[in-house]
Amino acid sequence: MSKDFQVVMLASGSKGNSALISTDSQRFLVDIGLSCRELVKRLHEAGASPKELEGVFITHEHIDHVKGLVTFAKNYDVPIYASEGTFRFLFNKYGKLERRNCRLTGPSMLCGDVRVDAFAIPHDAVQPQGYSFTWKSAGSKCTYITDTGFVTPLVNEAAKDSDVLVLEANHDVEMLKNGSYPYDLKQRILGTRGHLANVTAGQFLLTMPKLPKQVILAHLSQQNNTPKLAYETVKHILEQKGRLQETELIVAAQDHPVANEAVLMPRLY
Ligand SMILES: [Zn+2]
Ligand SMILES: [Zn+2]
Repeated sequence: MSKDFQVVMLASGSKGNSALISTDSQRFLVDIGLSCRELVKRLHEAGASPKELEGVFITHEHIDHVKGLVTFAKNYDVPIYASEGTFRFLFNKYGKLERRNCRLTGPSMLCGDVRVDAFAIPHDAVQPQGYSFTWKSAGSKCTYITDTGFVTPLVNEAAKDSDVLVLEANHDVEMLKNGSYPYDLKQRILGTRGHLANVTAGQFLLTMPKLPKQVILAHLSQQNNTPKLAYETVKHILEQKGRLQETELIVAAQDHPVANEAVLMPRLY
């Protein structure tokens, strides 16, 4: 039987993001957008501990992705990976950030049985990137894409052949347009360096010749989206083309961990 990555979305949304991505024997973290204390608590809920992590991969410098990073880097001897631009910003802003474990990402890195590929994403940060994890002996792939204004050819290529895809479904376009955000912020979110809408996430999935076995909808806006709306919108788009049965849709949450193995954590969708 083929094996896939276990993914636990420890937290996902505009108030903080962190995901635990594991094989049978290796664990990785994407982003530390929770306080270090909250991160450790949620890792324990997921049956993991920070010391087990082989690496932390930072997507970009926005606070909802790095809130607990300084404390984490001080307390734990775990390599932290990010792009050069992201580190430059972080070192400037957080003089106290411990440098000894900081490592620049290459386009492709080998960590034991897992290859990690970094790819650029269009977002209003210095040098943001998404990550693909390939579990070599299992032949399985997991890709993490949030905070992306639109789907570039590079993002499209990275998502290809993923078995588990974490995909941003940030907002409902109508909710955002009619909501209380100031005009400038609305334009930023809707722009090409903003965030992916529910409908764009759904349409992107339709372009994939082979859908991932599981799609985890992530980084939902608290103001301009609901878990039900994100789920129903993407479900409807796939249903209309008769492709819903090709995949399992899961919705990540802000306040509690959600796993791609239902036995591990309770989930709403
Ligand atoms: Zn961001
Ligand atoms: Zn974000």
